Amino acid sequence: MVEIDSLLHSGYHHPAQRPWQAERTLTKSALMYPIFVTHEQDSLTPIPSMPNQCRVGVNRLEEVVGPLVAKGLQSVMLFGVPDDFVKDAFGTAADDPNGPVIQATRLLKSKFPGLLVACDVCLCEYTSHGHCGHLYPDNTIDNEASVRRLAEVAVNYAKAGADCVAPSDMMDGRMRAIKQGLIDAGVSHRVSLMAYSAKFASALYGPFRDAACSGAQFGDRSAYQLPPPSRGLARRAIERDVREGADMIMVKPAGFYMDIIRDAKELAPNHPIAAYQVSGEYATIHHAAAAGVYELKPAVLESMTGLLRAGCNIVITYFTPELLVWLS
Ligand SMILES: [Zn+2]
Repeated sequence: MVEIDSLLHSGYHHPAQRPWQAERTLTKSALMYPIFVTHEQDSLTPIPSMPNQCRVGVNRLEEVVGPLVAKGLQSVMLFGVPDDFVKDAFGTAADDPNGPVIQATRLLKSKFPGLLVACDVCLCEYTSHGHCGHLYPDNTIDNEASVRRLAEVAVNYAKAGADCVAPSDMMDGRMRAIKQGLIDAGVSHRVSLMAYSAKFASALYGPFRDAACSGAQFGDRSAYQLPPPSRGLARRAIERDVREGADMIMVKPAGFYMDIIRDAKELAPNHPIAAYQVSGEYATIHHAAAAGVYELKPAVLESMTGLLRAGCNIVITYFTPELLVWLS
């Protein structure tokens, strides 16, 4: 005899009941599409390690983004891929007015005024050493100089029309510096700050570094990105970034860090939480589907469901083009 308080099936026996079990349901508005914008303005170059993804030149951006906007795309995140020869120790090219990010921001805001354009803010794509900040002569991070430079770059993206700036560098105190920079520039009312609060030193970034040509030339990023076992540092970083003026909190990568997403929801219950399903997660799901482990569509949708269930409101994912179709 089954006890009354053991009965669960009655709550989801009918298909119409099953979505009712969700706290959050995936919608197109939850999706943010990351785009690699290359300095080669006419180029549309497939990225070998990321199936179906391309580096996009500014002159090809409209043909890539237009059909997605028509299907309901509401936000993008831009990453710049500059020419090698512009790289220096300080990341001078990060806010070059003729560089890919500022050019792409201007173009997208003029062609698609309703599209939210977020710009990733970091120096590693633009530094000759490939690190995310400025370095002391002994190659350790000069946090103060890095933060000053990152705030400058973020403000220049904002002035070019970015609706959101998202610093991925993991320097200490950069949220406050960027927020102050936006206030001083008179744009803080129209530019939001998405904090890569809990960005872990992950094995899953390989395809991205290939796509953005942004690998470190020596050492690694373990002194500023979070150690994967560290829940405590992630919680401290989330709380700090809320205090420093973040409008949204991000966890990266996504799938291996769902406990941290749940922590973010708990620590910042009044902030939207974003999860970045990174290049390695994207490639893994693709390759597993191609190898017959599972069907692509249900696996991708389940990965999204997991992230929403963990607590996030925004998913930054390379599967956005497929999801816009599947959600139609
Ligand atoms: Zn970086």
